[in-house]
Amino acid sequence: MAQTVTSDSRSIAADSTLCDVELHQLVKVFDGEPAVKGVDLAIRKGEFFSILGPSGCGKTTILRTIAGFERPSSGEVRIQQQCVNDVPPYRRPVNTVFQSYALFNHLTVADNIAFGLKIQRRPKAEIEQKVIEAIASVQLSAMANRYPHQLSGGQRQRVALARALINRPSVLLLDEPLGALDLKLRKEMQVELSRLHQELGLTFVMVTHDQEEALSLSDRIAVLRSGSIEQVGTPSEIYERPQTAFVADFIGDTNLFAGQVAQQDNGMIEVVCDRGLSITVASTTPPATKTVTVSVRPENIQLSLAPCDRPYNCFEGRLQHVMYLGTHVQYVVALTGGDRVMVMQPKPSSIPQPNTQIYLYWSPDDCLALPT
Ligand code: ATP
Repeated sequence: MAQTVTSDSRSIAADSTLCDVELHQLVKVFDGEPAVKGVDLAIRKGEFFSILGPSGCGKTTILRTIAGFERPSSGEVRIQQQCVNDVPPYRRPVNTVFQSYALFNHLTVADNIAFGLKIQRRPKAEIEQKVIEAIASVQLSAMANRYPHQLSGGQRQRVALARALINRPSVLLLDEPLGALDLKLRKEMQVELSRLHQELGLTFVMVTHDQEEALSLSDRIAVLRSGSIEQVGTPSEIYERPQTAFVADFIGDTNLFAGQVAQQDNGMIEVVCDRGLSITVASTTPPATKTVTVSVRPENIQLSLAPCDRPYNCFEGRLQHVMYLGTHVQYVVALTGGDRVMVMQPKPSSIPQPNTQIYLYWSPDDCLALPT
């Protein structure tokens, strides 16, 4: 069974004054099917927090529950130490930016941004001042009088951001905010989001299925799987110290080898894998289960044309595929025992051809034995 790791989030919850959003045993059931299965989370003030996971794992449901568009089936949503289960969305100190922008097509950029304040019947001078500031914060001052159809996708998303930020919510909820943008624009808007977060100092909670986006933008990430949290941690903790094979596989590329712990001593674990490979993993703590999955990242594997004489993890194979990626080259090696291994290396001066006899190796420190 996958190990659930929420200890970090629990210890922060001990001091809830540091948190803007807390979820306690949150459950959401739709038509008898649980979409969220008892989630505990503590999101700190001013944090850029991402909820990451595959399609259908419950990310949007969690965000909509924080926003107040869904009511928990059980459990509690707390915002700034107050239980908000019975508080309607418009009374919560949060605002949401949707992937679809949700702009009014018949209103100009300025009027779209002013909409919320006009509904609240704020004084005209205050609205004008805040709209000017909000448009400037997303660098759209020159386009205040345009209509949404006269803007690019990225510009429309900036308007949606300005509209969500104008009444200075404590927490900004972002539901796949860059999902509708092409790759180049997406990268530009990632920089924009990061800049806004730093300048405004608000708590951002973003839902995404794009692991690269979550790694590059977030202070911490929760990885969700089938309605439950697998791991909460900083991007480097999630990438370098995944606690489960699911997290290792979902975040970045990795090679996974299922096997059994054969022996363990002197800080080394020997895992005999299903196809006979014997892998040595450096570990001071014994794995929780005897059946494990060894994870080794492609960039941690070295290639050699000559047989290697290292004490651990040297294997022989044949180069199957070579993919030139500009600064790096990706290799697929078919090992003699039948395993296929992906290797990523900086571009060498000469790239070996497919079908070359090749040797690969990695250090016991560069792989993990994860409970299965
Ligand atoms: P995606 O990345 O595809 O948007 P997600 O991780 O955000 O997925 P959710 O939208 O939270 O996933 O959905 C989680 C589960 O709950 C899915 O099985 C979905 O079909 C179901 N679900 C969500 N909203 C409803 C609803 N209003 N009625 C019934 N089932 C729902």
